[in-house]
Amino acid sequence: MSGSTISYDIPGLERAINEHSKFILTCHVNADGDALGSTLGLKAVLARLGKKCSVIVPDLPPTTLLWIPGAKSAHAYEREITVCDQLIEEADCIFMMDYNAHSRTGKLGEKLSSLDKGSKYWVMVDHHLDPVEKCDVMISNPEASATCEIIYDCLRNSIYKDQIDVTSASCFYTGIMTDTGGLSYNSSDPDLYLLVADLLRMGIDKSEIHDKIFNNKSVRRLRLLATSLKKMEVIPGTNVSLIPLSKPVLDKHRYMTGDTEGFVNIPLQAKNLVCSMLLMERPDGIKVSLRSKGDFSVSEFASKYYGGGGHFNASGATMKMAFEEAVEVLKRDMKEYYTAMYGEENKIKEQE
Ligand code: 5GP
Ligand code: MN
Repeated sequence: MSGSTISYDIPGLERAINEHSKFILTCHVNADGDALGSTLGLKAVLARLGKKCSVIVPDLPPTTLLWIPGAKSAHAYEREITVCDQLIEEADCIFMMDYNAHSRTGKLGEKLSSLDKGSKYWVMVDHHLDPVEKCDVMISNPEASATCEIIYDCLRNSIYKDQIDVTSASCFYTGIMTDTGGLSYNSSDPDLYLLVADLLRMGIDKSEIHDKIFNNKSVRRLRLLATSLKKMEVIPGTNVSLIPLSKPVLDKHRYMTGDTEGFVNIPLQAKNLVCSMLLMERPDGIKVSLRSKGDFSVSEFASKYYGGGGHFNASGATMKMAFEEAVEVLKRDMKEYYTAMYGEENKIKEQE
């Protein structure tokens, strides 16, 4: 088992796979490399077992991730409601991958919540804090670097280990790399490196995957990054930065889903900043992304103030108000949270 003292319910996973034939694999909105990697990697394993299996993502995945094997076969719920509802009705087993609350899946979550609980077999595989839904099989480990780490660890220790091939291994490796920024954060567990070694032994093309993840940006996206860094401000009296991206700014840069992926991590390269926030004006509200270093909990901030959540050092929330108001509210709330944590004095380091 990869590092942690948690022992995964592998018999439960085996039961779920063995005793069912029609699977739906779901993940959270704004699917990232881990959400897509874990669902598509598991799908590849189920396909080898001859199981019927569909991946349903809440919204269209970013085009920058469509190279992940099988990504183009994923159904986007908001685009294909009728087809997806039919697939969900027919399924006998539903996996919640990389999320633990139906509220994280938008309209898809409304459908999932409306199902008679006992009519499907539910499996959760996730690494976010505090699972909300109760599933027949719960495989949750907030210590894990990625959901891909967990699902791969379970499968390689299960009766299905021989069904993991280079395709699924590539998917799982992708999720671990994207959720750790290329083994930069959330990756201190020595056993993770043994697990990654196992994936490399499967014959995956590490260089190609890294190029596709990290060197796959458009010039247009780099210009949006330049604008974002220009707009970055440090909230007075804190060591917290904020990048506000209003609709007009996003429109000017012809924003597409996935364009701002990773932007929120960049301000943390400044040695004195402990927290970075990115605010984006989206059709369904103001999306806030938060990242922090060390003992500064952004999941607590996101859940306490805005009903969001995520991980200790990486979280998010949605604010329902006008953009300019959200910027002010966020600054005020963060100042309050920061001051309660560190006090007014001694903690404000100079930003040069
Ligand atoms: P991101 O900033 O990359 O969208 O999200 C960072 C982390 O926070 C991810 O693990 C994501 O699942 C979680 N997260 C983002 N937005 C929300 C939200 O509105 N609610 C909850 N509970 N988690 C969120
Ligand atoms: Mn993840």
